[in-house]
Amino acid sequence: MLHLGPEIAELRDELISAFNRVLDSGRFILGAEVEAFEHEVAEYLGVKHAIGVNSGTDALIISLRALGIGPGDEVITTPFTFFATASSIMLVGAKPVFVDIEYDSFNIDPELIEPAITPRTKAIMPVHLYGRPANMTRIMEIARRHNLFVVEDAAQSFGARWYAPGVTEASEAPYTGSIGDMGAFSFYPTKNLGAYGDAGMVTTNDDELALLARKLRTHGSIEPYQHEMLGYNSRMDELQAAILRVKLPRVEGWNNRRREVAAAFRNSLRASKHLAAPSDAQGHVYHQFTIRVDGDRAEFHQRALQRGISAVIYYPRLASDLIGANSDHLFVSQLATAESISLPIHASLSGEDEATISTFLSSVTTG
Ligand SMILES: *Cc1c(COP(=O)(O)O)cnc(C)c1O
Repeated sequence: MLHLGPEIAELRDELISAFNRVLDSGRFILGAEVEAFEHEVAEYLGVKHAIGVNSGTDALIISLRALGIGPGDEVITTPFTFFATASSIMLVGAKPVFVDIEYDSFNIDPELIEPAITPRTKAIMPVHLYGRPANMTRIMEIARRHNLFVVEDAAQSFGARWYAPGVTEASEAPYTGSIGDMGAFSFYPTKNLGAYGDAGMVTTNDDELALLARKLRTHGSIEPYQHEMLGYNSRMDELQAAILRVKLPRVEGWNNRRREVAAAFRNSLRASKHLAAPSDAQGHVYHQFTIRVDGDRAEFHQRALQRGISAVIYYPRLASDLIGANSDHLFVSQLATAESISLPIHASLSGEDEATISTFLSSVTTG
């Protein structure tokens, strides 16, 4: 679905000088590159603190732990997401409470959050799925009213902006991961900002939470051999940070290219009676371009693969099903697992591939 070849060809010289810089420094973990990358991300996102960690999953776990969430606590989240959203909640000993998604956006339905709140609820964990921001205005209102924390799973949404109702200027639209109490990013190679290995980041505007996150990533210790709590080994590699520093200045342009491809695909779908693209949203960064098939999705999938279009089903099963929780009330999410399919979209997608997919989309009818 994603070929890094063209990207690597474009960046090779800069990558090699970044590698050389790290090799010459003799420092491979949590050094000058990680520190510089943390500052650059914090500045880009407009957030006070960015803490480099080992993965997006660790970023979620460390965020929850920094907020003191653990056994006996509940965290409200979406079932239509990658497994790590739910597993991170369980790994800290808390219970994920699943509420349904909006049909149109694939994101958590804010109107269903309040009825799911109990005396044990400690946090809301929205996911900006496929790069589309969840409704952060409503989520933050509900969180404030009920004294809950918000941890944004921004693994798929680096560079996405949330436009509150009435906002039209980008300068007034904050980046995802900068709005809640904590944000968690993944730099897994296929993400919109991807390393060439595992890496992740925690973001926050709170000094105390930032310090806790820094401790938690290094075995609960900032000063050597003073371990104040049980933490993790979740340090970011210098090589990954150096690679990400080469890529960060390009991410805005790459996200714009994704938007351009999405607009072309959307256009090709306009006449189809059986395929529907979700409505567009300002600030969306199209980590995936996910459509709904009204009819035989398996047949559509087969036809796409026959044309050499590597469509993928994200996600065939709900996180609630995977952990054995009740999914009976999650109708819209169940529909999404049955109907949706993602088409290749990335910044290096060639004009030729874009045309192949567009032609396929405008020609296909199913059912
Ligand atoms: C990728 C992803 C994660 C986990 O990130 P890793 O870096 O792979 O650990 C968490 N949540 C969502 C929604 C993701 O897409």
